[in-house]
Amino acid sequence: MKFHIKTYGCQMNERDSEEVAMLLARSGHAPASCEAEADAIVVNTCSVREKAEVKALGKIRMLLAAKREQPARIVGVMGCMAQRLGESLVRRLRGLDFVVGTQRLAAIPAILDAVRAGKGPIVDCGERRLESEASLTHRAGGHSALVNILLGCDRRCSYCVVPLVRGREWSRPACQVLEEVGALVRHGVRDITLLGQSVMSYGAKQSVWEGAPASPGGYREPFPRLLEAVNAIPGLKRLRFMSGHPSGCTEELVRAMAELPAVCEHLHLPVQSGSDRILKRMNRGYTLDDYREAVRRIRARIPAAAVTTDIIVGFPSETPAEFEETRRFMDEIGFDNAFIFKYAPREGTTAAEWKDDVSADEKMRRNKILLEEQNRRSLQINEKQVGCDCEVRVEGVSRRTAARWTGLTRTAKSVMFEPFAGIQEGDSIRVGIERAMPQTLYGSVRLPGR
Ligand code: SF4
Repeated sequence: MKFHIKTYGCQMNERDSEEVAMLLARSGHAPASCEAEADAIVVNTCSVREKAEVKALGKIRMLLAAKREQPARIVGVMGCMAQRLGESLVRRLRGLDFVVGTQRLAAIPAILDAVRAGKGPIVDCGERRLESEASLTHRAGGHSALVNILLGCDRRCSYCVVPLVRGREWSRPACQVLEEVGALVRHGVRDITLLGQSVMSYGAKQSVWEGAPASPGGYREPFPRLLEAVNAIPGLKRLRFMSGHPSGCTEELVRAMAELPAVCEHLHLPVQSGSDRILKRMNRGYTLDDYREAVRRIRARIPAAAVTTDIIVGFPSETPAEFEETRRFMDEIGFDNAFIFKYAPREGTTAAEWKDDVSADEKMRRNKILLEEQNRRSLQINEKQVGCDCEVRVEGVSRRTAARWTGLTRTAKSVMFEPFAGIQEGDSIRVGIERAMPQTLYGSVRLPGR
């Protein structure tokens, strides 16, 4: 069959879609060149916000309506919304062929065959994780790759649906991760992002270093030790990780970020609010002073490190004064960039039981203020790059204009430049920065001898 996967949500969903695509290809199916050409369409869904679910449901309904013209076409759903809604999706969406939860991705090829054999609709949202040979489920030819190291989350942030849909925290054995990264680098990958909901908790609940020799650099904590081992893989140029939690920003992690050449100088550290009372209600597990200390630690060892964050505005009972605290805190820290979200209750979370008492207009007002202020801040920070040369990993032709290409600095800043003959995705080049915008730097490639 020809298949197509439509992906919504985070990098973890991107990685899951890639894994399913490779599993289907290894079962003899082929990726369709476009959705219209597909015999089977899988929608990979996100539940982090209601809006994400509404969007995916709209897409699925459209696909099911189109099925009237192509009754043999198979339409299935996977990901966080599938895990959250399970069986009810089949009842609500007539013609839907399968629903597969976040732990059962490896079952999709067999489920597709069963549906083709007339055994649909099929629902598989089991809690027990079905493993697949991770190192064989990456697309060939890329210069960068996403690698899961920690799945699920044991924290219980009061607004977050992730633990309900991604399950208990589970750290993959270090030897598995190293084998997967090793295979990727042997196949030309130079840029690795290690993924986990709360990635710094890697190995906190399981012994992931069973039988491994001691760390050459004397790292005792499982995550910094993993960074050290991945950094040592010959040929790897850049190593990133996503998403952090202030409680994991230890001295040892900061030492690893400062000492290990491949580890990039960027830390995404969601703070969510600038009010200690709201952080407590969010059950985030740290105070603003803890957060300040985490950032102080990183900047003391890596002054040029970029620090980015996530913020939720309009959390239940957030007062105008507490919103002002968030504004001041963002200014104090001086974030390179921030992703701002308006609070929305998620069914099944603790916060969903509380009155959503900040009005939609007020949430919008607070969101707009933080976005404008962050844009000003990002521009000021980016303007300091004008006149500097940056090392840039080439990503490809810009989506905005074919005349330009884009790339990424080690501090996760996007750079636009005019290409040169023979340029390739994955190349490491130097770009002289000439102009700055809040989200993008513009410059010219510094070719050798020029
Ligand atoms: S750390 Fe908190 S916000 Fe992040 S995935 Fe876990 S529960 Fe959700």
